[in-house]
Amino acid sequence: MEIRCPACNKIIVHSETECSRCECYVAPLFQILRKAAEELQHGQRLLKSGFGDEAQVHAELSWNLRRSKESARCAFFASLLGKKYEATSYWYKILHERYSENKKSFPAIE
Ligand SMILES: [Zn+2]
Repeated sequence: MEIRCPACNKIIVHSETECSRCECYVAPLFQILRKAAEELQHGQRLLKSGFGDEAQVHAELSWNLRRSKESARCAFFASLLGKKYEATSYWYKILHERYSENKKSFPAIE
């Protein structure tokens, strides 16, 4: 896991707590990324076990910590499984607008 220093843009690896160039304290940023990954894994496990509502909660927690295609996909399938079609439509739009490389094969819904 690596990030860019928010102050000077240097690449920092997860074992560092501060930027070696500008001494910016970056440990909380890695904590956020780790927590986002944990919530996503939890959501994906719940989704595979058929618990849509619970999976959606953890996928959305992950999304709120770090925007990722994986957390949006998990939230999409979890809301579909939970038959929450308004949320399903929301996540579909997110996936389409942010992550679709070929919009023809991933049509927008109005
Ligand atoms: Zn820095």
